[in-house]
Amino acid sequence: MAITYGEKPLKDEPITVSAYTAEDEGEASLRPKLLAEFTGQAKAKENLAVYIQAARQRGEPLDHVLLHGPPGLGKTTLAQLIANEMGVNVRKTSGPAIEKPRDLAALLTNLNENDILFVDEIHRMNRQVEEILYPAMEDCEIDIIIGQGPSANSIRLELKRFTLIGATTRSGQLSAPLRDRFGVILKLELYDVPELTYIIERSANILAIPIEPGGSAEIAKRSRGTPRIANRMLRRVRDFAQVLGDGVITAAIADLALTKLDIDELGLDNIDRRLLQNIITNYGGGPVGLDTLAATVNEETVTIEDVYEPFLMQQGFLKRTPRGRSVTAKAYTHLGLIAPERNEQIAME
Ligand code: ADP
Repeated sequence: MAITYGEKPLKDEPITVSAYTAEDEGEASLRPKLLAEFTGQAKAKENLAVYIQAARQRGEPLDHVLLHGPPGLGKTTLAQLIANEMGVNVRKTSGPAIEKPRDLAALLTNLNENDILFVDEIHRMNRQVEEILYPAMEDCEIDIIIGQGPSANSIRLELKRFTLIGATTRSGQLSAPLRDRFGVILKLELYDVPELTYIIERSANILAIPIEPGGSAEIAKRSRGTPRIANRMLRRVRDFAQVLGDGVITAAIADLALTKLDIDELGLDNIDRRLLQNIITNYGGGPVGLDTLAATVNEETVTIEDVYEPFLMQQGFLKRTPRGRSVTAKAYTHLGLIAPERNEQIAME
C-alpha cells in the first residue's frame, strides 16, 4: 500500500531530497513572516535588517537582492519576509517559467511602486529574457519590440521602481552582467543543530505536535542542516509517534523513525554513504572528479554539487581539493573502516 500524507500519495522520493516535493505542500504555514522570527543566517539577517530599515526611511525600494545557497534553506521565505517588512507586494515566478521577453515585460509592467518581483532559479532564465532585465534593473525601463520584420518598432516603457529578488542554487551559473546588477548578494549557509532544533520546535508548535526536547534535538541532528528536511522529518516522525507510541515525539521515537527511513545518526542517507563508500573502494579515498563520482552513484552532477557535497563537507566527511574530491579520516571511521595513513594526512591538511 502506498504511504499517504493527508490525501496525497507520497512521491517516491527519499525524505532527504532538499528540493520542494509534493510532501511539502502546506509548508507555507511554517514560513516565518518577519525577520525577527527567522532563525539563523545571522550574517545575512543582520545586513538585510540594515538595508530594509534604510530603504524604508528613504521611502525607496530595496536594492535588488540575490539569495544563493542550497535548496530548502529559506530563500523563498526570505523573499516573502522582505516584502512583509517593506510593506509591499511580492509577485513570484521562476526562471524557467518566463519563456519569452514579453512574459517578463508583462510581469514588470504590472508591478506597483516599490513592489518585489521574486524570480526563483534565476540562473535558468533564458538569455533573451535576461536581457530585458538589465535596463529594468538599472534604469526602471524596458524596450519592447512591436510588430515584425522591417516594420518592427522598439518602444521604451517606463516602469515603477521595484526590487528584484533572485534566488539560485548555482550563483556560478549566473552571467556576470546579471550578477553585477544585484546590489545585495546574500549567501545562505547550512543551519547548525541548535538553530534546527529551534525551527523544529517552532514548527511543532504551529502544527500542534507534542515533542520533547530530546525529540527535536534528534531530528535536528539528522536533518542535513536544512529546515525543509527538518520540517518534513518532523511530520514523518509524528506518524511513528502516533502509531507506535502515545503521540509524543521523544528522542527514542525520533531515532527509531529516522533509522527506519535509512537516515543514520549523523543524518547521512543511502546516497551519502554510497558516495563516500565509492570514493574509498574505487578511488582509494580520492581525489576523484565530480562527474565520475556522480556517475558511480547514478546521480546528476548538479545534485551532487548542490545537495550532497555541501552537507558532506559541512560534516567534515569530504574535502574539495584542486584535483577532485577526497574523503577524510572521519568518513572511514563513520563507515566502520580504518583510514589509511595517507588519508589521515589529507584530513589534517
Ligand atoms: P528555498 O526557497 O531556499 O528552497 P524555502 O524558503 O522554501 O527554501 O524554505 C523551505 C522551508 O523551510 C519552509 O517551509 C520554511 O518554513 C522553512 N524555513 C527555511 N528557513 C527557515 C528559518 N530560518 N526559520 C524557520 N523556518 C525556515
